[in-house]
Amino acid sequence: MVASSFDIAVVGTGIPGLACALGFAQQGLSVAVIGPRPKPHVATRAQPFDPRIYAVAPASVALLEGLGVWTSVDQQRVCAVERMRVFGDEGTQLTFDAYTATVERLATIVEESELLRVLDAACGFQPAIKRIQSTFASLTAQPDTVAVDLEDGGSLTARLLVGADGASSAVRAAAGINATVKSYDQTAVVANFGCARPHLNTAWQWFTDQGVVALLPLPGEQVSLVWSAPQELAVELAALSADQLAGRVTERCASAAGDTTGVGQLTPIGKAHTFPLRRVVVSRLIASRVGLVGDAAHVVHPLAGQGLNLGLQDVALLLEVVRAREAFRDVGDATVLRRYERGRAEAHGLMRFTTDSLAQLFAFDDPLVRRLRNAGMAAVNRLSPLKNALIRRALG
Ligand SMILES: Cc1cc2nc3c(=O)[nH]c(=O)nc-3n(C[C@H](O)[C@H](O)[C@H](O)COP(=O)(O)OP(=O)(O)OC[C@H]3O[C@@H](n4cnc5c(N)ncnc54)[C@H](O)[C@@H]3O)c2cc1C
Repeated sequence: MVASSFDIAVVGTGIPGLACALGFAQQGLSVAVIGPRPKPHVATRAQPFDPRIYAVAPASVALLEGLGVWTSVDQQRVCAVERMRVFGDEGTQLTFDAYTATVERLATIVEESELLRVLDAACGFQPAIKRIQSTFASLTAQPDTVAVDLEDGGSLTARLLVGADGASSAVRAAAGINATVKSYDQTAVVANFGCARPHLNTAWQWFTDQGVVALLPLPGEQVSLVWSAPQELAVELAALSADQLAGRVTERCASAAGDTTGVGQLTPIGKAHTFPLRRVVVSRLIASRVGLVGDAAHVVHPLAGQGLNLGLQDVALLLEVVRAREAFRDVGDATVLRRYERGRAEAHGLMRFTTDSLAQLFAFDDPLVRRLRNAGMAAVNRLSPLKNALIRRALG
């Protein structure tokens, strides 16, 4: 049973939640982190890499560097993305290249479990962080604090409560923040494969009439699949044996790109996993002494690989507005929280618009729409300054 008072209470022990807790503790604030301890991925011959793989943007790496944890990430387990090739459904190609955009890399591929491992360890070294392995139940906002009740009967108070508890956030609901949830009628099928030819640090993405297929490069000759497939197809893919799925993805990528995948025949490594895809839009990012970060604040389609990046930038700004507050304001002051909400509005809106528009544009099976979207891709591909501007925007 817990009963105590803190400057900050963070609910949720995903990557944004732990990053937030660590950042606040490094500012000298007392922090309670509520949620389960992350489970490590145990690398085996059958499953050397965590199936949850993220493309993290340089801005996210910068945050993790600032928190002092990026140097602890095992560099043997990460892979730079230096090139991205996007294919339309009429063979049109759009190529983004780090070299021509004069940046070191477009993104870094890293396992979820590796980021959780280093954040969890760093939180463990912070005496200002109290780990509470329980579940958030309810909150009561008072003028100067927020009182939090836990499912195990414990309770605590904090000046600021951060909801980092994911798409179905209980903090969000308890704070009275509305969320509109819409299914994309797609499920992401995720799996890792060995590849016959070197991936050359390239990420591939195919917009096809069977959904969006992405292959992300992993260390060695391995790739990670995210196939955002219409429901019926996802059920069919999930029921395939590992060998059958590898064959199906090899075939899909080759036929969607005129056999220009470059990675050749895929061989299965470990099991496939599925994630139903939905969009979550919230009415507010804040309530009295409450702020939302990560998927509690927004869920976007994974086709742009930006959900976690968006969440980490929420954390970066929340840490910054709290750090830069005037001496007379406390950490949960309404003005401080409004600065956070205003500061994130544009990035959230833009990401929602971009991912939704792309998902819808490629869901239409109309010959005219198909011609227009492929012509659009080809036009963007010819405009290097526009491509470089898009790259810089995606880098954060
Ligand atoms: C297929 C797929 C691929 C993706 N690829 C990328 C990518 O390449 N790049 C990228 O940037 N993003 C990507 N994303 C998005 C990314 O997965 C999410 O944005 C990110 O995981 C959100 O983290 P989170 O901690 O906010 O939420 P979650 O990961 O859902 O974590 C929520 C945490 O809160 C805890 N919790 C929940 N309820 C309670 C409670 N009541 N009390 C206490 N604790 C609680 C949970 O135990 C968990 O620890 C992808 C998503 C999908 C589906």
